[in-house]
Amino acid sequence: MSVRVRFAPSPTGFLHIGGARTALFNWLYARHCGGTFVLRIEDTDAARNTQAAVDVILDGLRWLGLDWDEGPITADATGPCKGDRGPYFQSQRKELYQRRVEALLSHGLAYRQDGAVKFKMMREPVVIDDLVVGRVVRNLTDREEVDPDFVIVRSDGEPVFHLVNVIDDLEMSITHVIRGEDHLSNTAKHIALFRAFGVEPPKYAHIPLILNGDGSKMSKRDQGASLMSYPQEGYLPEALLNYLCLLGWSPKDNNEVLPIAEVVERFDLPNILRHNARFDSKREKLDWLNFEHMRRLESDRFNELVVHALGKSGVETDAFPLPYVKAALGTGKDKLKKTSDAAAYLGFYFKDAFETDEAELAKLLVPENKDRLIKLREAFAGLATFDSAGAEAALKGVAAALGLKAGPLVHPLRVALTGKGSGPSLYHLIEVLGRERVANRIDATLARFQ
Ligand code: GLU
Repeated sequence: MSVRVRFAPSPTGFLHIGGARTALFNWLYARHCGGTFVLRIEDTDAARNTQAAVDVILDGLRWLGLDWDEGPITADATGPCKGDRGPYFQSQRKELYQRRVEALLSHGLAYRQDGAVKFKMMREPVVIDDLVVGRVVRNLTDREEVDPDFVIVRSDGEPVFHLVNVIDDLEMSITHVIRGEDHLSNTAKHIALFRAFGVEPPKYAHIPLILNGDGSKMSKRDQGASLMSYPQEGYLPEALLNYLCLLGWSPKDNNEVLPIAEVVERFDLPNILRHNARFDSKREKLDWLNFEHMRRLESDRFNELVVHALGKSGVETDAFPLPYVKAALGTGKDKLKKTSDAAAYLGFYFKDAFETDEAELAKLLVPENKDRLIKLREAFAGLATFDSAGAEAALKGVAAALGLKAGPLVHPLRVALTGKGSGPSLYHLIEVLGRERVANRIDATLARFQ
């Protein structure tokens, strides 16, 4: 039997990082097994159900690259599903639910009470053989005063979550329900409903929750809880995927920087960890993974992402020749931790009137630097070939003539050319800036001396 899994978010206007991980684990399992990944929007709560809330989910999944496999063909389907199929929406399946409720009523498995429909819950303990949590036995009838029957259709006619969730899993032939452990408490009800419909329930795999660094439950308000805060903060989808894979699954070796294709190959449900995953709120691990994935990007994609990030920070690269842009960005490869670092690190290539750090400026504008910069300017002007090796030789020549080491020249020159005390390798950035810009920037700095 081929594996069929689903991600079934409710459109709350927010895609929680825990929800994104649930989607990821389902997707990984489907891709690992060559199965099917279904996306189903659980939007029966009409009040909260808006297009914008659905878009938050779709945008998040698209950003992560978690493509779904099937769904009805919809006019406004925007992929990335094969054949432009949209996700399933529970709001479009109401008749189906009604038919199923009628069937329960006619078999005496449900009854009407005060305008609502209640399901006759089984009276014996329910055994859940969870693939992650292990065997769990739930007894909804262990306390006599508690009526285990539960509402499946409210008095206003709206079917409730337990009912539609089970009907859809059944109708969609879902084989494995992989979801957050917070749903374990619902599972006895779901299994009972499956049995009432005369169908064997799917296998369940409840994945441990993601906790904050201090062990508290991660809520909507916690920093980093919203998936879409990550692209805004300059993280790569590759890195976030990698990080989410490691929150609750372990590759069982020390190599943690993993391309998603490798995780697809190695992922399996028995490898899901049973303990809750801790989200590292200091972001050390995520930042490290992001840096590692930034380094591994193909140049074209790196350039595209960095140009976009620069633009977002008000640094326009359009007016510059492509080879210049590429060379400039190349000096940031292996250096940027996040795309959002690009403006601070590389912005000087694209702005002659860059700001200079106050403290660096004060150190730069001491009298002895004036003569040093004049000599450097002359030496650069005399270079036959203006490249990094030539720039290095010229600077070392000036230093020797002045009886100095390179350091006292390197620092003021860097500040004069970039406005900052640190950045890309000096000789490389000189080569990229080129003869004219270097001369002009030194001149502009010289003009600032009293
Ligand atoms: N709509 C439910 C949720 O967002 C789905 C639960 C499930 O995966 O079964 O929590």
